Amino acid sequence: MAVYVVGHKSPDTDSVCAAIALADLKSKLGLECIPVAQGELNNESKFVLEKFGVKAPEIMTDGTGKQVILVDHSDISQSLDNLDKAEILGIVDHHKVGDVTTPNPVEVWTWPVGCTCTVLKNMYDFFGVEIPKDIAGIMACAILSDTVIFKSATCTDKDKEAAEALAKIAGIDDLQALGLEMFKVKSAVEGTPIRDLVKRDYKDFDMSGNKVGIGQLEVVDLSILDPVKEQLAEDIKKLKQEGGYHSVFLLLTDIMKEGSLMLIASDDPSIVEKAFGKAPEGDRIWLDGVMSRKKQVVPNFEKAFAS
Ligand code: MG
Ligand code: MG
Ligand code: MG
Repeated sequence: MAVYVVGHKSPDTDSVCAAIALADLKSKLGLECIPVAQGELNNESKFVLEKFGVKAPEIMTDGTGKQVILVDHSDISQSLDNLDKAEILGIVDHHKVGDVTTPNPVEVWTWPVGCTCTVLKNMYDFFGVEIPKDIAGIMACAILSDTVIFKSATCTDKDKEAAEALAKIAGIDDLQALGLEMFKVKSAVEGTPIRDLVKRDYKDFDMSGNKVGIGQLEVVDLSILDPVKEQLAEDIKKLKQEGGYHSVFLLLTDIMKEGSLMLIASDDPSIVEKAFGKAPEGDRIWLDGVMSRKKQVVPNFEKAFAS
């Protein structure tokens, strides 16, 4: 029986490319693995796979009776449905350790770096397995995506080293240019339903017993979102109602100005001031220098909810 390698819900480029790369590595090490994604790929991921001629993974959303390896997450809320009925064989990640537990010992590789594919590049090296050219290309793109072209607070020297080494293997001569090309694809909002924009890169969290959703849209210029900003603000209020959330936040991240406008729908908006030391203006707040949900937003809210 094959083992499935799966990234988080609302798949992003890292969770897709990490699943593909780890399935390749594990299969070459003798464990037959199939990469899967928990939903339709976003435009950026489609662009990246097409660019390097890599087949998109199948979609799988239920873990019942499956053997799985998790990449780019270890939170139950972000994982397969019925994960408790699956057998987890491993985790490769770069987030805080989540709430997944296992009855058996597992192989866990988590590093505090900017991207799962950075960990994977080092795993290939550790096991002495050559990285195929096409997979090196998509791994480099995942690093560009997760580190926002090396600008994010999560980016480390290991990410830059890995991306440069992968670029060499893949024959990419300008990582910056490739990064900008990707983010232009990612920035496109035209013709996309509002709820799809809210959910494009969206994660659920349990914060001290409160259900919290945090989405993020990364664009090359915030003005791209001007035509839809008010609708987005309205839609997260609706989503909060429908999903029984304490709070839903949507980060509109300007990767050139290096900051985020956060839209707020919350039972207790004062949680925002508690988290960031600054009062919101109505249902939004500009957070200068904040680009990383994982490093600059989630920990602040977790502390604020816990206090
Ligand atoms: Mg991810
Ligand atoms: Mg990631
Ligand atoms: Mg991301």
